[in-house]
Amino acid sequence: MKKYEPVDPQKFPRFAGIKTFMRLPHIRTTEDIDFAVVGVPWDGGASFRTSQRSGPDAIRRVSALLRPYNLELDVRLFDHCSGVDYGDLSVVPGYIEDSYERIEEELYPLVDAQVVPILLGGDHSITLPVLRAFARKYGPVGLIHFDSHTDTYDEYFGRPYNHGTPFSRAAEENLLDGNRCIQVGMRGSVYSKDDYEKAKSYGFDLITMAEVRESGIADVSTRIRAKVGDARVFVTFDIDAVDPAFAPGTGTPEVGGFTSGEALDLVRGLSGLNIVGFDIVEVLPEYDPADVTALLAANIVYQFISIIAAKNKQMS
Ligand code: MN
Ligand code: MN
Repeated sequence: MKKYEPVDPQKFPRFAGIKTFMRLPHIRTTEDIDFAVVGVPWDGGASFRTSQRSGPDAIRRVSALLRPYNLELDVRLFDHCSGVDYGDLSVVPGYIEDSYERIEEELYPLVDAQVVPILLGGDHSITLPVLRAFARKYGPVGLIHFDSHTDTYDEYFGRPYNHGTPFSRAAEENLLDGNRCIQVGMRGSVYSKDDYEKAKSYGFDLITMAEVRESGIADVSTRIRAKVGDARVFVTFDIDAVDPAFAPGTGTPEVGGFTSGEALDLVRGLSGLNIVGFDIVEVLPEYDPADVTALLAANIVYQFISIIAAKNKQMS
C-alpha cells in the first residue's frame, strides 16, 4: 500500500514550493488514503460579508507550518494514516443549485471509497450538498455542529438555500438522524425568542455559549459523546463559533465565543467517535489580519487528521 504524507521540512523548507494542505501531495485519488483535504471555494450563500471563496487558499498557505507529532493525542500522524490534498471542487459562480450538484457529485468517489473528506469552505451553505452525498451512501447520519448560529432558518428573501439554512434543509430532506445531532456555541442577537426551538424540533440537542460557560468544555465533550453515541457522524465547524478576537476573518462574527485553545480542545474531545467526514467553513481572508483565522482553521484541520490517525493507531 502506498503512503501519501507531507514533504519533510528537514529536506525541503516550509516556505518553498506550491502550497497544498500541510504540503501533502496534490493527487485526485481515492486509493491508499484514509482522508482527502478538499477545497470548496464557494461564497454565494453568504448573507453579509463575502470572500469565503478564498478560504481554502488561505488555510493551505498557512498550513505549511504544521508539524508531524500531536502530543495531546500522542500520535505521529503519518505513521498511522495516509492522505492527499484533493484540490478544489468546481463550483458555478452565482448559481447555488448548480454548485450544489457539482459539490455533491464530485464527493461521491470519496464517500463511496469510505475515504474521510475534510472540506475547506467556503461559506456554510456548502454543508448541505456534502450531507446529501453522505445520505446517498449511508442514509441519515448524525451531526456535530460548532457555530455561533443554528443555521436552521426557514429561508432568506423567500429562497431556500444560503448559509443560514443548511440544517433545516438537511433535516427536511431526511439527511440527518435528528436524535444523533448536536449544535454547540450558539449566542448573540437573534430574530425572535424561539430561534433555538426550530433546531430542537428536529430532535437536535443544542448547547448555548451561556451553558458552555456554566458547565465547562469537558462537560460539553461528554454531552456531545452521549448524544451521538457510536452513530456515523459528520463534523461541521463554522469558524464563527470562535470569538472574533481569535477569529476575526469570518462573514458573520458574534462576540462572546470560544477561545482558539477551547476550539482545539473541543475538536480533540471528538477522538474515538465514528466520524465519516469533517468541514471547516466561513474563513474569510479579506478580514483576516496576520492570517490569524486561517491559522486557527489549519490547526483545527490538523486535529481532524490527528483524530483519524489516533483511531488507526488504536486499531493497529
Ligand atoms: Mn454556520
Ligand atoms: Mn455562524
